This record gives sequence, structure tokens and C-alpha cells, in this order.
Amino acid sequence: MTGRLQGKRAFVTAAGQGIGRATALAFAREGARVVATDLDGGKVGPLSAEGIEVHALDVTDDKAVTSAVAAAGPLDILFNCAGFVHQNTAITCTDQDWDFAFTLNVRAMWKVTQAALPGMLERGGSVINMASAAGSIKGAPNRFVYGATKAAIIGMTKSVAADHVTNGLRCNAICPGTVDTPSLGDRIAANAAQAGSVEAARTAFVARQAMGRLGSPEEIAALAVWLASDEAAFVTGQAIVIDGGWTL
Ligand code: NAD
Repeated sequence: MTGRLQGKRAFVTAAGQGIGRATALAFAREGARVVATDLDGGKVGPLSAEGIEVHALDVTDDKAVTSAVAAAGPLDILFNCAGFVHQNTAITCTDQDWDFAFTLNVRAMWKVTQAALPGMLERGGSVINMASAAGSIKGAPNRFVYGATKAAIIGMTKSVAADHVTNGLRCNAICPGTVDTPSLGDRIAANAAQAGSVEAARTAFVARQAMGRLGSPEEIAALAVWLASDEAAFVTGQAIVIDGGWTL
């Protein structure tokens, strides 16, 4: 049996853990040749045992991005997953939070896309951007700059889709609710004092989803596989919510 991504070449950012890692593995299982990158080369290293090409890559380093994308060769699939979740409000957000969030979550996504697009336009392909249900889909408490960056990503996604819709290039955004990844563990720990305990903080994150559970990285990866595949050939410019009913 051949996979849904057989013969396709995929590039994934932030593949060291969480959704990026699960997606790199899912792409590979579906037959894609995958280049998995992460700021922390040690975290992506183990993926090479699964036949995945791994590289350390800080997506905020423009030169490194240009050479990593060029070295990967013509791509069919780009999964822009890298991002950081600040917990702040318009009052508590610092200048540093603002600059860091927009540099990593938005500017770096543009630079990776800019490096990859010329090659992708020659053969068509699928760009998948990691947004969030928090942002322009739903206002979430304590996600001021994060929500602003994820809203910007949806705008960027629609713009890329509109510019290249006649070139066989599709661009969509994934908008998850709360997903059980290592960085969620960090956010739970950071909220423990205010919630009363780590367990209470976790319960509050779980309760946001109407389904009463967190999403798994594999569930988000399954959506990324579909968007990357020819099954989604008629889908572009969409912000697809996958949130266990958070936005119901
Ligand atoms: P995570 O936050 O646990 O891991 C992030 C990975 O990104 C790490 O491996 C880290 O080394 C890497 N990284 C950090 N800075 C980088 C940089 N400059 N260059 C390259 N890699 C870098 O993973 P996650 O929770 O799966 O989040 C991945 C994406 O999904 C993020 O964009 C996040 O905003 C988004 N997201 C997550 C959730 C959630 O609940 N976990 C929900 C919605 C959206």
C-alpha cells in the first residue's frame, strides 16, 4: 500500500517535540521524504531512526533558513509549526514579549515561506501554517500577543493562498484548541500558583474543550497530513479549527 504523501518532499519546522514532531512522523509514515528541523538539534536527532532527515534550524536566523530550505531541494509540503505561547494581557505584555512573539511566530514563518515558495511554485504544493483557535477565531484570556500573532498568521495564510491560487499552490492554517504537548506542561506549571495547584491548572486547561479532554499531537498531525495530501486539492486559504469544541 502506498501512503497518501508518496513521492512528496516535506519540510517541517519545530519538529523536535509536540505537534511538529508528530507531524514529521505522520508525513514519513504516509510516504513523504521529510526534512525535520528544530532550534534544538538534539530533539530532532532521534527522528533520523525513522528515516527522516534532521537538521538544527533556528527559524529566526534568516541566513540559516535560506540555506536549509535550499539544501532541502524543491518542496511539495511546508509545515510552518514553530511558535511560542506568551501568557499576557495588553497591560502585562512587555516590548520584549511583543518583539519576540512577532519575530518568531510571524516574521520567521514569512521568511521560511519566502525561501520555499519559488521552488514550490514550479511544482505546486501545500503550505500549512500553525495558527491557533486563540486569536481571530476566539479571544482567549491571557493570550494578548499570542492571539495577535496567530491572527496575523491567518491573514498571511489567506494572502499567500490568494496570490498563488492559480499556481497549484495551496496555503491553509491549522487552528488547534489545547493540545497536550511539552510546552503546555510549562504553561500549566506557570499557572499552578494562581489556580491553587498543578492539577487545578491542568483541569482548567482541559475544561476549555467542550469534549472535556485535551487534543493529542497525533490528532493535529492527521489534519496536517490531509491538508498536505491530494485529498485536500480543492482546499486553500482556510483557517481550519480543530479544538474539541472550544469554540462551540
Ligand atoms: P512545543 O511548544 O512543545 O515545542 C515547540 C518546539 O519549537 C520545540 O521543539 C522548540 O525547540 C522549537 N522552537 C522554539 N523556538 C524555535 C525556533 N526559533 N526555531 C525553530 N524551532 C524552535 O510544541 P507545540 O505545543 O506542539 O506547539 C507547536 C505549535 O503549535 C506552536 O506554533 C504553537 O503556537 C501551536 N499551537 C499549540 C497549541 C497547544 O495547545 N500545544 C495550541 C494551538 C497552537
